[in-house]
Amino acid sequence: MTGVCIIAEFRNGAFRQVSFEIASEGRRLADALGEPLTAIVLGDGVTAEAATLGQYGVKKVYLIDQPELKDYLAEIHVPVLAEILRSVQPKVVLSAASANGKDLSARLAARLGAGLAQDCTELLIENGALKAKRPVYAGKTYAWCAWTNGSYPQMASCRPNVMACSLIDASKSASVETPAITLPAVVKSRIVKVEASETKVDLAEAQVIVSGGRGMKDPKNFALLEELAQLLGGAVGASRPAVDAGWRPHADQVGQTGKVVTPTLYIACGISGAIQHLAGMGSSKFIVAINKDPEAPIFSKADYGVVEDLFQFIPAFIKEVKKLKAACG
Ligand SMILES: Cc1cc2nc3c(=O)[nH]c(=O)nc-3n(C[C@H](O)[C@H](O)[C@H](O)COP(=O)(O)OP(=O)(O)OC[C@H]3O[C@@H](n4cnc5c(N)ncnc54)[C@H](O)[C@@H]3O)c2cc1C
Repeated sequence: MTGVCIIAEFRNGAFRQVSFEIASEGRRLADALGEPLTAIVLGDGVTAEAATLGQYGVKKVYLIDQPELKDYLAEIHVPVLAEILRSVQPKVVLSAASANGKDLSARLAARLGAGLAQDCTELLIENGALKAKRPVYAGKTYAWCAWTNGSYPQMASCRPNVMACSLIDASKSASVETPAITLPAVVKSRIVKVEASETKVDLAEAQVIVSGGRGMKDPKNFALLEELAQLLGGAVGASRPAVDAGWRPHADQVGQTGKVVTPTLYIACGISGAIQHLAGMGSSKFIVAINKDPEAPIFSKADYGVVEDLFQFIPAFIKEVKKLKAACG
């Protein structure tokens, strides 16, 4: 067993941002171990992009580029990854804690008989072994996980937007090897159609999220948040009551039963800050809360709090953002 191996995510002709984050984290761990960093990439039309992972410090990419691997399907991806990992024999395996990544990681760990820490926010090497920090009890506290001696590979999925992404050298490229692997001949399911949601920026990868709650009062009022999000290059999120009321699609829900997001900036508008909502956005880098109730729990989590009627504040804020953008050209 040697080295760190990452499982990169590739979708619609490009690597997802989280792939560069886990490559960067993988590089740091591999340096701490003094061992190599490799990557596995499965996808369709990925050959031209595979070597670019070298820019983030990956030395070698194991690549399988086939039309059957276009969309994630556990029945195909899991056995193929397991076979490659059994031959590469890495000490540490990193994957993305995206929706697909979490599904894949759990199945893969079971197949390999490996220990897995999901949704990690910090990783380090201690005495030659992996240690992983992950949120528990809906983000109320954190647990540090270690693997029992001799248990390999040590698997961790990484929460998107948390690990620092470091481009090491834009001129570097990884060597690419294509393992001779036959895809499973019989599969019981197939993806018939993928319907992309109308959200312009993917909530899970957005750097800025403007979220609305019950305080938005009416679905039409979300136009205000759409405008602000568009100006800031972000996406619109929602609390559960806004989704339950049919004001927003479920794909926009942030929280324990929605998405876990970690943007640089999270603006909560008319959201009280219930623990189930905080579970989804509490690790955002900067939290701004706009709420007319100064006692709202969201203020205990916010870096900046605005105690104001949002229908007064947001239009004025939009006006200022427009002025600033115009001034900056
Ligand atoms: C098992 C379980 C899972 C759950 N999962 C989730 C989840 O994934 N995501 C989630 O969000 N919730 C979830 N919930 C629900 C959660 O407990 C809260 O009920 C919910 O988060 C509250 O949403 P809210 O803040 O939009 O509404 P409220 O709690 O009703 O808060 C509305 C806020 O808007 C403010 N407001 C009103 N008018 C204005 C105005 N004009 N200007 C400024 N502020 C104003 C009010 O002061 C208030 O603080 C879950 C609950 C359970 C039991």
